[in-house]
Amino acid sequence: MKALCTRALAHVAVTASALVAASGAVLAQSGEVNVYTYRESKLIQPLFDAFTKDTGIKVNVISASSGLEQRIKTEGTNSPADVLLTVDIARIEEAVRAGISQPIKSDVLDKAVAPQYRDPEGHWYGISMRARVVYASKERVKQDAITYEELADPKWKGKLCIRSGQHVYNTSLIATMIAHKGEAATEAWLKGVKANLAHKPAGGDREQARDIFSGKCDIAVGNTYYMALMAKNEKNPEQREWGAAIRPLFPNAGDRGTHVNISGMALAKHAPNKANALALMEFLASEEAQKIYATANNEYPVNPKVLASEIVQGWGKLKPDPLPLENIAKYRKKASELVDKVNFDAGHHCRHPRAHHLAVKRTQDLVF
Ligand code: FE
Repeated sequence: MKALCTRALAHVAVTASALVAASGAVLAQSGEVNVYTYRESKLIQPLFDAFTKDTGIKVNVISASSGLEQRIKTEGTNSPADVLLTVDIARIEEAVRAGISQPIKSDVLDKAVAPQYRDPEGHWYGISMRARVVYASKERVKQDAITYEELADPKWKGKLCIRSGQHVYNTSLIATMIAHKGEAATEAWLKGVKANLAHKPAGGDREQARDIFSGKCDIAVGNTYYMALMAKNEKNPEQREWGAAIRPLFPNAGDRGTHVNISGMALAKHAPNKANALALMEFLASEEAQKIYATANNEYPVNPKVLASEIVQGWGKLKPDPLPLENIAKYRKKASELVDKVNFDAGHHCRHPRAHHLAVKRTQDLVF
């Protein structure tokens, strides 16, 4: 990664000196693009390979689990970053608020990405989406439908598992509850959900499936793609068992729809290879790339012309909550406050509130 960074920086130096001598238009055709990403390289490399094969443009990847916005900000006008790839709308909004993006006007992108999964002003575009569903025990849960509201129903007392309420996946979901139902109702709901917990929130989404498998709980909350990660886990047969123990229920399929979140992309404010960056972004939203992406990570394509992978289609139909995604960024801080207010994580944060927040920040950085 360090080597890539050095190379990318060296490239900028060359570009900057060349700028004096050549026109911007010529430079824009130079053969590389620098991508800063929170996504695991393994997941996105097949896309970059396909892009390079199509265009001849080389993709330099700098991946990190945290701090990329800050890094781009610190690098300032010298930043080699062209495109930022992030997971979760809240983080994309954070990047935009940090002032490190620039708006795009692209008919290609506007046609490829459904309106609810892009910024009206063009600062960010979704690439893929995931749904936050209920993992239900195949053995012990008979019902085929559920709502998020029902997670607070006392019938689930001692049977519900979930990761930390402060994890970004959960604060995003809670933010949609605030947007739909208001703060007071959401607080009451959170208290009800907490009262149903089988044990203290811990682990990631996959560990909730593990706890269903071992009988500690009957239902849990988790993202869809983890079901594929477990089912197709060749290195870890245990995880295949966890995955086989659950089936997804898509909450609120009968009314407002299931909460979805996106992974997305933004054009860096000082992108040195802007034309190449745009070409890459348009490629990532194209049918070709969306197909590769849907297969590689088992998320839902944002391009309506592309079908989800076979395994994802097998889970049933997703009806996404049409709530504009900016509501998640808008209410996420309030959601986080409510999680603390009802002491959702049951004691973790009481003794060392600061240590807890730091720990949470670290875990939320570990995203696929
Ligand atoms: Fe994840």
